[in-house]
Amino acid sequence: MLNKVCFQIVSTCRVCGHDKFHPYLDLGQIPLVNRYVERGDDRPEPRFPLRIQKCVRCHLSMLDLVVDPKVLYDNYAYQSSISKTFQEHCGRLADQVAKLYPERSLRVWEIASNDGCMSLEFQRRGAKVLGIEPAANLAALARSRGVDSVAEFWSEKVARGLQANHPAPDLIVATNVFAHVDNLHDFLGGVRAVLPQHGRLIVEVPYLVSFIQKTEFDTAYHEHLSYFLLHPIREVARRAGLELIDVDLLEIHGGSIRAHIGHGNPDPKVQKLLFEEERLGFYDDRIYNEFSKHVQQIRDELVSFLSGLRHKGRTISAFGASAKGNVLLNYCQLSTETFEYVADDTLAKQGKFYPGLRLPIVSRDTLIRSPTDYLVVLAWNFYEEIKTSLAGYMAGGGRLVCPLPNLRIN
Ligand SMILES: [Zn+2]
Repeated sequence: MLNKVCFQIVSTCRVCGHDKFHPYLDLGQIPLVNRYVERGDDRPEPRFPLRIQKCVRCHLSMLDLVVDPKVLYDNYAYQSSISKTFQEHCGRLADQVAKLYPERSLRVWEIASNDGCMSLEFQRRGAKVLGIEPAANLAALARSRGVDSVAEFWSEKVARGLQANHPAPDLIVATNVFAHVDNLHDFLGGVRAVLPQHGRLIVEVPYLVSFIQKTEFDTAYHEHLSYFLLHPIREVARRAGLELIDVDLLEIHGGSIRAHIGHGNPDPKVQKLLFEEERLGFYDDRIYNEFSKHVQQIRDELVSFLSGLRHKGRTISAFGASAKGNVLLNYCQLSTETFEYVADDTLAKQGKFYPGLRLPIVSRDTLIRSPTDYLVVLAWNFYEEIKTSLAGYMAGGGRLVCPLPNLRIN
């Protein structure tokens, strides 16, 4: 019942309006992976299909449905300052961007400014900052940290309203939001309305080339509506009367792009990277079909390995109760029959249950006190770091399993 009224099917491309798609990835019915379940809460969780399709005209990859944001972001707990890596990333971005405008004392607007983590880095470097954050509690938290913030959902209407009371920004920064936006034209219409001739919008999004090449299918979840190549970013910018003027390739989130959108001529780097996307085959269907086959093989291999262990009476648990780990385990349809628990260092998650699978989330102490024979590392992108931190578990005879990009046992 809930599922029927809580999502909309995507029938036209949110960049170019085309209605022909190439569907290529089906991860099955997946719960809302950021909604951790409280002890004693036995209500059935909503599950929604998690499928990706590609627009055959502008090559935007997107989920084929949009879950109602009221359902998706209810009790959304993500607070950006918690991750040290992200904080360092914010500092580097502020340093690099400031170099673009050496003569100016910068005015920066940040869209989806969260708790002010990024805004603070700009402020520390002398910029005047305005945060625009839809979650009222996060906007209030940012204000208490000294960042001027309004609790608003960015749109053209809101942008024009802000324009009446604030000087125009030299820079608009949107680092963790573009992939979540359904109406990109309204989003960019707001940017177009307030951005002066010399100004830039800086957008950061995970890069589809890395998503496919590094087999990061577990970073697909219902919050991530779009999976970008440069081609559709340029297309959507142009439709708003703007231009993709520069691009940086970044390591964060497994491989991301930082797109500079504004007025004026593009740097030659943009054309070079567009040629590269075409040369690698990202404007054709084949690479997507091969990716999909590869993802299914990975699932079959992991499921068969783990059920083999259970058959032999071995015990298994998982490490790192992240959203991406949840996508992987739900896609493989693994549950409490396979795993004893999932251990995680985040205090706020401990004592709750992993969405969909209903695995209890325990502390690292529990893992050390009652270890299982095998431990599947779900945050496989930090595998080496986690392996080092679990030397004690391994010295006691425990074995580590790295599920992706290829199954490895240590
Ligand atoms: Zn399109």
